[in-house]
Amino acid sequence: MKQEKNGVWTSWNENLTYKYKSLYKVTTEQELQEIIAKSDKVRFFGSKQSSADIAAGLENLIDITTYNKILSYNDAEHTITVQSGLILGDLIDAVEAKGWCIPCLPDINTITIGGALATGTHGTSGKLLCEYMTSCTLVLADGSLKKIEDGDELINAVRVSLGALGVMSTITFKCEPIYTLHVKEGPENDTEWLPKIKERLKKHDFLRILWLPHTDKGYVITGDKIDSETEIKEDLGPDYLKHRRKASKILYKYTHIFPWITSIANKLLYKGFFSSKKEYKGSLYQATVTKSRGSTLELAEWTIGLDKFTEVFEELKTEINKWSNKSFIHIPMDIRFVYKDKSWLSYAYKKDIVTIGCVSRNAATADTYEAFKTIEIIFLKHGGKPHWGKRFTAKDTAFSKIYDKWEDFKVLRQEMDPTNKFLNPYLTELFNEKK
Ligand SMILES: Cc1cc2nc3c(=O)[nH]c(=O)nc-3n(C[C@H](O)[C@H](O)[C@H](O)COP(=O)(O)OP(=O)(O)OC[C@H]3O[C@@H](n4cnc5c(N)ncnc54)[C@H](O)[C@@H]3O)c2cc1C
Repeated sequence: MKQEKNGVWTSWNENLTYKYKSLYKVTTEQELQEIIAKSDKVRFFGSKQSSADIAAGLENLIDITTYNKILSYNDAEHTITVQSGLILGDLIDAVEAKGWCIPCLPDINTITIGGALATGTHGTSGKLLCEYMTSCTLVLADGSLKKIEDGDELINAVRVSLGALGVMSTITFKCEPIYTLHVKEGPENDTEWLPKIKERLKKHDFLRILWLPHTDKGYVITGDKIDSETEIKEDLGPDYLKHRRKASKILYKYTHIFPWITSIANKLLYKGFFSSKKEYKGSLYQATVTKSRGSTLELAEWTIGLDKFTEVFEELKTEINKWSNKSFIHIPMDIRFVYKDKSWLSYAYKKDIVTIGCVSRNAATADTYEAFKTIEIIFLKHGGKPHWGKRFTAKDTAFSKIYDKWEDFKVLRQEMDPTNKFLNPYLTELFNEKK
C-alpha cells in the first residue's frame, strides 16, 4: 500500500481543495480494513467527480481507485463481482464482453463504482445504478466486514448511503442480456414534447430530453429495442456537431459577467447543434454515455415525482425567463426518468421520478451562477430532492421533510458509526451532527 503525506486533495474541476496529512492508496480489502480500524476519522474517494463536498475534508484519506479488480463472474446468474474502485467504463466493457448489460447508465464512464453507488447515480428509463447491485461487503467503522444481500432490510439503507455507513468493498451486480436500441433524436417545441412524456415512456424503451432553456425547445432522444441485425439508415448529422462543447465554451466565456449573453448563446447553440435530426442504432452504452469531456463544468440536479413534473417545469421556465431573475442557464438541462425503488435515500423512493440537470460550463464561477439557487428554491418548494453528488445547499431540516426515511437513516448511521469516523465537515452539517 502506498502512503502520501501532507498533500493537497483537489476535486476534478478544482472547485474543492483540502490539505491532508495521510493519503492511502489501497489495493486489498485487508488494507482497507486496517486503515479504517486504526483511524479516528477517515474519508474515502473515487474519481473526485462529485460537485458536492462529500469526498474529502479530513486529515486521513483513502484513494479507492487503486482497489479496482474484477473478481468473478457467474454465467448462470448473469452476475459480476468487482472491487468498488473499478471505473464504471471498465465494468461496462467487461459486462458487454459477456453479452450482458446493466440497463440504466449515467452519462459518464470515468466514475468509480463505489462513488456512483454512494451518491445515487442514475441514468434514464431504468432504476438507479445501485438497484442492480444484489450484494456487497461493507467495511464498518471498526474495520470489520459485513456482507449484505438482496432481501436483507439493511440493503435498502446501504444502496444509497453517501459513504456514511461504511466503505463499500466488493459489489455484485445482476446484469441483463445486452440489447440494441434504435435511437432517434430531434428538436421539438416545449408545447410538443412536454405533454407527450407519459405516452412516450409507455411507447419507448429509452427516453431522454435535453431541454434548451431560453429557446422554448427540447431535443428529444427516444430508443426502441430492435434485433441487432435490423438495418437502420444511419444519419449522424453534420460532422461539425462534435464541436458543440468547444463552441459552448467560447459562447459562454463571459456569461458570468453578463448572464443575459446566455440567452443569445443558447439560441445560437440550438441553431448550430440541436436543430437537425439523427438516427442510428447502438447499445445502451453507445446511446447514453459521453465518452470524453473537459473538466470545466459544475453540476446541480434536482428530481421530482413524475406526476408533478409538468407543473414544476412550467414554474421553472416562467421564473428563469423573467428578466428580473439572473438565472440564465447553460445548455442543455438534461431531463431523465427513473422508476421507483425501495432505497431509503433514493430520489425514487416509492415513486417514479423525473430528474433535471443544471450545468454551469464555467466551473470556477459556479458560486455566482444564479440558476443553482433558483432551481433549488423551486424544487424544494415542491418536495423535490437534489442529487447527492451534485451542488445544493439544503440540509437536515429540509431532508427530514422530503425523505420518509431520513430520521431512520440518521439513527442507523449513529449506530453504525458511533464516533462519527466517516463524517467530514460537509456531512456533519448535512446530518446536523455535533462538530
Ligand atoms: C460530467 C459528469 C457527469 C455526470 N453524470 C451523471 C449522470 O448521468 N447520472 C448521475 O446520477 N450522476 C452523474 N454524475 C455524478 C457522479 O455520478 C457522482 O458524483 C459520482 O459520485 C462520482 O463518482 P466518483 O468516483 O467521482 O466519486 P467521488 O466524487 O470520489 O465520491 C463520491 C462519494 O462517494 C463516496 N465513496 C467513494 N467510494 C466509496 C466506496 N467504495 N464506498 C462508499 N462510499 C464511497 C465518497 O466518500 C463520496 O462521499 C456526473 C458527474 C459529472 C462530473
